[in-house]
Amino acid sequence: MGTEPKDVYNTFQIVQEQLADCVRILNLSEDIYNILRSPMREIHVSLPVKMDDGRIKVFHGFRVQYNNALGPTKGGIRFHPEETVDTVRALAAWMTWKCSLMGLPLGGGKGGVICNPKEMSEGEIERLSRMYIDRIYKYIGPEEDIPAPDVYTTPQIMAWMMDEYSKIAQKNQFGVITGKPLLLGGSLGRNDATARGGLYALREAATELGIDLGYATIAIQGYGNAGYYAAKLAKELFGSKIVAVSDSKGGIYNKDGIDPEEAQEHKMKKSSVVGLPGTKKITSEELLELDVDILIPAALENVITAKNAPDIKAKVVLELANGPTTPDADDILYKKGIHVIPDFLANAGGVTVSYFEMVQNFMMYYWSEEDVHSRLSDKMSHAYHSVLSAAKQYKVNMRQAAYVVAVSRVVEAMKMRGWM
Ligand code: GLU
Repeated sequence: MGTEPKDVYNTFQIVQEQLADCVRILNLSEDIYNILRSPMREIHVSLPVKMDDGRIKVFHGFRVQYNNALGPTKGGIRFHPEETVDTVRALAAWMTWKCSLMGLPLGGGKGGVICNPKEMSEGEIERLSRMYIDRIYKYIGPEEDIPAPDVYTTPQIMAWMMDEYSKIAQKNQFGVITGKPLLLGGSLGRNDATARGGLYALREAATELGIDLGYATIAIQGYGNAGYYAAKLAKELFGSKIVAVSDSKGGIYNKDGIDPEEAQEHKMKKSSVVGLPGTKKITSEELLELDVDILIPAALENVITAKNAPDIKAKVVLELANGPTTPDADDILYKKGIHVIPDFLANAGGVTVSYFEMVQNFMMYYWSEEDVHSRLSDKMSHAYHSVLSAAKQYKVNMRQAAYVVAVSRVVEAMKMRGWM
């Protein structure tokens, strides 16, 4: 890595750097690094879809299955105009570490389609979703690879995908995908699971650091599923004050606090939080540098970089997004004493409740919301403390510690299976 802050980051290269760092900390062999540095399987598909004007548009999509030593691969599907195969590879690797860290019997995968669902009709999105499943059908399944929602994909999209898979299989296959609507085998508690899991981890961190969350101020970048629920639940569970939130169109600030529900209603009506009465407009970049106790990046990757890391003032960074912090920024935050709860720990609540959903689908027996919450709470606090003790034992930052715990388990499984 050079000393000059970079302008462009390749997310998959970042993953490989993080892995190399972990291999060094654990003193693992080069063979292990070589197995883990690239995905086990990649599927590239082109997707001809009939648009509402009668023309055919060909979209491009990917499914990356990174490693299945611990079980079937698992991970979401993103619909995004700037999707790249390298980002999907990186996200699939992080899913591998995430499932391992949480002690789930699952490997890691990820999917992506280059498209802009904000500019497509419901019918076009449905046809694209079904076509994607037609193309990857052979390679997914309840015991093979189980997709889920991610950026710009919804429970409705999961329902269409499950239906398409079931039609081809000629039987209902609820377990092929998670994040489904409740009526079609979804789990209670899946909707807010990513945010809730992150807040359970934050609760443990706050106790460790002596922060009273009842008096804490919070800024949240991103107001999708993760960001909105993080705001709502931080207020409900802890009584924290949300002073700033943002979305792809900009941010808003009020030192006396923003009501999460009002911000959400405004976003539903005006398609952005910007303009909410009683708030001051700020940029998404300004939001990251606010003097708050807790900063929650909950949008996309590479937003905390060597350029702005010196100006970050929060005591804790809770990474609900995947990959929001670059490695050069990580070093800066660590030296500044900022406690980072790294992405594949902080946002693991989503896949954890997805796993609960799969278990319920297999059992055909559905749990209460309280059951889901208490099992999620146990898993999150257990994972947080395993990372914290590795950080103390190896004298490394929280991300390196999360890697140590997660990668050790994957390596152990590969050895037991006789892969090396
Ligand atoms: N897309 C989410 C993630 O990045 C959830 C994945 C899942 O539920 O399988 O963790």
